[in-house]
Amino acid sequence: MNAYLHIPFCTSICSYCDFTSFAGQENKISRYVDALCVEITSSDLKGPLQTIYFGGGTPSLLPPEKLQTILEALRQKAGFSFDIEISMEANPETVDEQRLRSYRALGVNRLSFGAQAFQTEILKKMGRGHDWTIVEKAFNDARLAGFTNINLDLMFGLAGQSLSQFQESVQKVQELNPEHISLYALQVEEGTPLAKQVEEGLELPDEDQVADEYAWAQKSLTTQGYEQYEVSNFSKPGFACRHNWNIWRGEDYWGFGLSAVGTVGDVRHGHGDDLMVYINQASQGRKGLLEKEVLSQSVRAWERIMLQFRTQEGVLESELESYVRSQGGSSYKERFNRFEKEGFISLSQGRYRVTSKGYFVLNGILETLMV
Ligand code: SF4
Repeated sequence: MNAYLHIPFCTSICSYCDFTSFAGQENKISRYVDALCVEITSSDLKGPLQTIYFGGGTPSLLPPEKLQTILEALRQKAGFSFDIEISMEANPETVDEQRLRSYRALGVNRLSFGAQAFQTEILKKMGRGHDWTIVEKAFNDARLAGFTNINLDLMFGLAGQSLSQFQESVQKVQELNPEHISLYALQVEEGTPLAKQVEEGLELPDEDQVADEYAWAQKSLTTQGYEQYEVSNFSKPGFACRHNWNIWRGEDYWGFGLSAVGTVGDVRHGHGDDLMVYINQASQGRKGLLEKEVLSQSVRAWERIMLQFRTQEGVLESELESYVRSQGGSSYKERFNRFEKEGFISLSQGRYRVTSKGYFVLNGILETLMV
């Protein structure tokens, strides 16, 4: 079983962010953790847990004793498998060696730092609270604290960043030699400060530059021994994020905390995004807290196909056939043959896989399956 826990606190809010997170509310962390633990304890969660993922927000704002309280609630409720993966997202400016040692001692064995870019002026424009010296320090502190599985997030398509500056960012990340690198395209989400800046004339790199950045990073990272195991994720062999893999394979996962989503069996559950409402309601228990939706078999099948196409495992041809047939769709074969000829997908051993070139047009490939 897998569990996702959302920690919705940040020291400041980045210009592009549309995650559920609050700045200047750290005085509520303690009450939030108490409420989260009541939610866990009053749930029907059954273990043992194989993976736990602390996302946010900035989970590394959790004092170690609060993290311990949450992990204890999970352990008592569900138990942990002997090889559990416990991942935590962290912002570089929020940690030091001492704090990281405490997290490690509590069982956190995978860290994910938001590095995003090398250039200080770009990071500033994004509203990030760090520069590269802080990234390097956090990374080295994590190594000293005993972490042997570290991810660094990078973004591309950033305003004001040239192709060569992006390449410099990738090289700087590679110099640190993390086990895992995630590469995300900047999205302009409605209602964010970035969306307003774009409306007011902020220029973003054009499509060609964005495509060149992605393609360059794919080549550079794979040459350096990273495998691209998903559209946005690269890892050294054996260091793929197990939590995300399990979800992409269609395994159940529980969501706990503000705005967290999970899927157990054919029921998707979700939470609202009002911090005080969550704290008050979750303190009474999980029942009545959740928004639930029963997923039909065909929705589950479509989601599984979409997620698996994002990964290097790809999708069984027979699964695809039966999905398209169940939807009364016409043959997709002709279009897929064309994609194959153009080098966007490959078919081998009964599985369709998107090629590294195809990842860039993944949405277009998936659209041809929609009937
Ligand atoms: S650190 Fe992450 S969650 Fe927090 S504001 Fe920035 S993008 Fe959003």
